[in-house]
Amino acid sequence: MKMDHIPFPPWIRKGLSTGQQYKRTEGLLESMQIDTICTQANCPNQRECWEKGTATVLILGTICTRNCPFCSVSHGSPLPPDPQEPKRIADLASELALQYLVITSVDRDDLPDGGVSQFRSIVEACRLRNPSMRFELLVPDFKGVQEAAIEALDPIQPFVFGHNVETVPGLYRTVRPGGNYERSLRLLRLAKNRWPNTPTKSSLMLGLSESDEQVLAVLQDLRNSGCNRLCLGQYLKPTKDSLPVRKYIHPDEFAHWRDVAITMGFDWVLSEPFARSSYHAEE
Ligand code: SF4
Repeated sequence: MKMDHIPFPPWIRKGLSTGQQYKRTEGLLESMQIDTICTQANCPNQRECWEKGTATVLILGTICTRNCPFCSVSHGSPLPPDPQEPKRIADLASELALQYLVITSVDRDDLPDGGVSQFRSIVEACRLRNPSMRFELLVPDFKGVQEAAIEALDPIQPFVFGHNVETVPGLYRTVRPGGNYERSLRLLRLAKNRWPNTPTKSSLMLGLSESDEQVLAVLQDLRNSGCNRLCLGQYLKPTKDSLPVRKYIHPDEFAHWRDVAITMGFDWVLSEPFARSSYHAEE
């Protein structure tokens, strides 16, 4: 059997029905021309989340300046930031009566500020309408401008600051070639130093051939960087050309990692096959 054709185990199944709220969420996103990582990453939770009226907005376009083979977002030369995007997202938040929104973006290494000002403008636009709205920002690593990016976010301090390490450092060359493990940890440390009371969060995909020792070392590095929240989920190949799944991790193993993470001091842990950074984020 070829390694990239491991059959789905029985726990990798999701219901397919869609209800009225799903269709409403879908319709609003379409008519307002708002992109989501839910569709761009072929997230397996899309039906469930959209049925609840939850989506993770993807800002700054759908073209990434990096090219990670685990990710289905396209890459190339992105368009300039859209000045109307903050208003459109504020409109969506009003329509869906959102109290909590996760915002993420593609990597924008082409922009002098890495795209941070667009994050800020969007939060400001939403808060003009609903001052108590809370935000989870799932940001890129802001290569080369990390200090300035944290500084720029200071006035809109997020409720949760997230940045994903995605995998163990030993797999970065194949999984996340444009990333740098130390740089990612550094960003989490900078955020924690700046906002000691703001939870910081990171995620890892399992099933890419990482060893238990490597996962444990990453969890320790995250804790040493002050990271409070952890998400561990099964890597699922999003397109036929993406990296193959090397192993389907049994739900019992995910439960084991949850216990390990809690013992290590993480105070919010989601560890299950379909866990994604923004899954159940508002809880
Ligand atoms: S888990 Fe996150 S990315 Fe996936 S559908 Fe839900 S909100 Fe979207």
